[in-house]
Amino acid sequence: MQCPSCKKSALVPTKFADGLPSFTCPSCEGHLIEILSYRFWSERASVTARDSVNLVASEPTDSKHALVCPQCQKVMTKFSLSGSATNKIDLCGNCGRFWIDRGEWALVRSLNLDTSLTQIFNEPWQKAIRQSQASLAKSHRLRETLNAEEYQRLVDLREWINGHPAKAAILDFLRLS
Ligand SMILES: [Zn+2]
Ligand SMILES: [Zn+2]
Repeated sequence: MQCPSCKKSALVPTKFADGLPSFTCPSCEGHLIEILSYRFWSERASVTARDSVNLVASEPTDSKHALVCPQCQKVMTKFSLSGSATNKIDLCGNCGRFWIDRGEWALVRSLNLDTSLTQIFNEPWQKAIRQSQASLAKSHRLRETLNAEEYQRLVDLREWINGHPAKAAILDFLRLS
C-alpha cells in the first residue's frame, strides 16, 4: 500500500500504540488505522496503552488535499476535530480506515478525543462544529465592525441577558425592535 498523503513511500505495518496496529508511512509519518481495531483498543485502552502512543513533539500536520484510501482506492471523507482546530481526520467510509497525520494525535489527545475519536465521524458532531465555526466567524466579523468599547458593551449585554430570568422576553423585544 502506497502512502495516501505524501505518496513517497509504501506503508509499513507497525504499532500505533500498545494493542493498536497501524500502517505507517516512513516518509511523512502518517498512520492508517482500522476503525475496528481502534474501537477494540479504545474500549479497553488502559492509561498505559493511551500513554504508549508516540506523540510527535511538533506542530500537527494536516493533509489538505483529498486522500484516496490506500486499501480500497475510494476517496476518503474529511472530518473536523473541533470548531477551533483546522485539522481534519480522513476516513474511508468504504473499508473503515482512517488517516492520522504526523503530530495530529497530540491534538486529538488535547481535545480529549483519544479514546472517543469515532464520535467525530457522526453527523451531529460535524453539525455542531459547523455551527460553532459559523458563530465564531460571525463574532469575528462583528468585532471588526465595532470598536473595542462597543464590542465590550455588547459582550456585557449578552452576559446580562443570558443571566436574566426574563431572557426570552428580552430577546423577543430585541428581535421586534
Ligand atoms: Zn507519507
Ligand atoms: Zn478504504
